[in-house]
Amino acid sequence: MYSLLLKQAVIASVVLPYLCTAFSNNIASSESNHQRVVIIGAGVGGLATAARVSSQLPNTEVIVLEKNDCNKLGGRCGSFDIDIPGVGLFRHERGPSLLLLKDEYEQLFTDCSRDEKTAKSYGLDMKQCIPAYQVVFEDGDTIPIGFPRSKCAQGLSLDEIKDIQILEQESIRKFNNLEPNGFDKWQDYLDTCAAYLDCGLPNFIEERLDVPSFPAFLREALREGRWPLQPHSTMLSSLFESPKMIALASFQDLYVGLSPYINKGQMGGGVLRKTAPAVFGLLAAIELHPTNKRAGVFAPVEGFRQVAESIYKLCIDNNVKFQFDSSVTSITDEGVYYINKEESDTEKKFIDADLIICNADVPYATETITRSDHSNDEYQERYDWNDKFDFSSGVIAFHWSVSKRLDALNTHNVFMSANTTSDAEDSWAVLRDDDIQSTSASSSMKGTPFNFYVHRAGMTDNTACPSGCDSIMVLLPCQGLVRQKELASLPRKEAMEAYKQQFNTDVINNAREAVLDRLSVLKGLENLDEIILNEVIDTPQTYADYYNVGAGVPFGLSHGLGQLSLTRPGAKSKSHNNVLFVGASSRPGNGVPLVLIGAKQVTRKATEKLKSMATTAE
Ligand SMILES: Cc1cc2nc3c(=O)[nH]c(=O)nc-3n(C[C@H](O)[C@H](O)[C@H](O)COP(=O)(O)OP(=O)(O)OC[C@H]3O[C@@H](n4cnc5c(N)ncnc54)[C@H](O)[C@@H]3O)c2cc1C
Repeated sequence: MYSLLLKQAVIASVVLPYLCTAFSNNIASSESNHQRVVIIGAGVGGLATAARVSSQLPNTEVIVLEKNDCNKLGGRCGSFDIDIPGVGLFRHERGPSLLLLKDEYEQLFTDCSRDEKTAKSYGLDMKQCIPAYQVVFEDGDTIPIGFPRSKCAQGLSLDEIKDIQILEQESIRKFNNLEPNGFDKWQDYLDTCAAYLDCGLPNFIEERLDVPSFPAFLREALREGRWPLQPHSTMLSSLFESPKMIALASFQDLYVGLSPYINKGQMGGGVLRKTAPAVFGLLAAIELHPTNKRAGVFAPVEGFRQVAESIYKLCIDNNVKFQFDSSVTSITDEGVYYINKEESDTEKKFIDADLIICNADVPYATETITRSDHSNDEYQERYDWNDKFDFSSGVIAFHWSVSKRLDALNTHNVFMSANTTSDAEDSWAVLRDDDIQSTSASSSMKGTPFNFYVHRAGMTDNTACPSGCDSIMVLLPCQGLVRQKELASLPRKEAMEAYKQQFNTDVINNAREAVLDRLSVLKGLENLDEIILNEVIDTPQTYADYYNVGAGVPFGLSHGLGQLSLTRPGAKSKSHNNVLFVGASSRPGNGVPLVLIGAKQVTRKATEKLKSMATTAE
């Protein structure tokens, strides 16, 4: 533990700040005969694109400007520590806790490392969680799910393998209790999802043609009841009888900002907007399929901050320059205006660039920094977003440092309301409502159906908290921020203060009470409130303030068919020839692995553009 503390302290207080200041001094003195790329934002999208562009074009100067200080490196993808005197250090994830599509992470390092270093040698070690999840229903019924067929890869001991096998048998028995042949039906469903995944990932997400995956896709798509573009609930209700089975098969729709349930009032049952098409079953395959080579839920050892820090080190090895505390306020055809917010100065600066890659959230960036009408003040920081898009849900996050181990929880836990079909459907209301103002955020939640996720980091990684304790993160879906047009022209700080009011103490207490009530069905969690040593709460306003995400939603634009693939905002800016977008609200979509895939695609476009500019200039 001591060495971990020391390492974190050294990185946080010495290494990162040193690099921030060291590189900030270099920007002005860059050589003018090199092409220069400015990247706005050091989220995963910005970092991965910086690493790729700089490794492919070593003579190009790549500079990343990030509005936050270096402790928030990685944007939404990061961790923070709570130090409780006399008890110890608790690590919490600020955002992601599920590491999926592990190969995408590894590939970034093999593609960009100059001396063939791997993700692990850069400090990113990924450990599989078996089982992937525990699902806890409202009546206290629990079921572990997601057992890979091969359990040897992780170097598990024989005793650990035996324990897992016992759990797996329990899981099979529980599936069969939910409905006759429940487990066989589940396996059959996952096989359909795996065919959707094997075809969908290369052809529609990675944008590379993979012909051999089409026959299996078509075979599944044409099987009775499995058409991939129908509402997810229509397919699921033709396969399963129990609302609990349907809940197990659809909770991943939350990650793409959609509800699985058909919306009869909308065209196609709502699949163009807020209802997941059945093809999103591919998310279940990514997490839970027993043999698919892409499947599995992993956790990065020492937390998700390792993802950002390892890519940052890769960038440094490729000579990328970073400047933190630097908020970009507007973009022109020549470069970017920004203010440097280091404590001592709020300096106004301009930096010219051949190409600008914007990692700041698309709906925010297009309403603020890429707009041409800046009311004569290109240095004014603002917060606004384009609310014509469909957004995923907001989240209220509770980060609890607790004084006991909560052994009834797994690493990843999903709490679902599915006592009846109508409860199950109502539990998704927060995503289904078209008019987000129609539900009163402050009406009591206790006793109403809702779903939420709980992460217990210490279960897989004993560096997460002091021994005998636990670090818990609860993510409760909620409405996003409701845009107030009149705040758009205010200085950013004032707008943020006003948006804070949308998540006042009443709203938060109401949510907290309802979550504690639902958690109390598990043994040892009956009086959880009494053992919470420290609490940090994030709301959509927090995500808006920290990362400038539109509507404060952590998962960006939703992924209905109207905002998917070619219909989702692409890399090219509509207003500026010299700007490309990368990140969760652009193509292919939300989640760290998709953002990493997006970074590959944007790098291709960026290098083509830079090469053609260089040729024209000759
Ligand atoms: C609570 C939560 C849970 C999640 N769970 C998961 C999960 O389990 N698994 C998973 O894969 N994904 C998960 N995600 C999603 C994942 O975190 C995101 O998809 C991903 O991190 C987005 O990366 P990005 O680079 O697109 O954006 P960001 O991380 O938002 O990066 C954008 C960066 O730009 C900076 N910026 C913004 N405006 C400016 C400006 N004007 N000037 C300079 N800099 C600026 C921001 O500060 C930020 O650092 C979760 C997210 C949250 C919040």
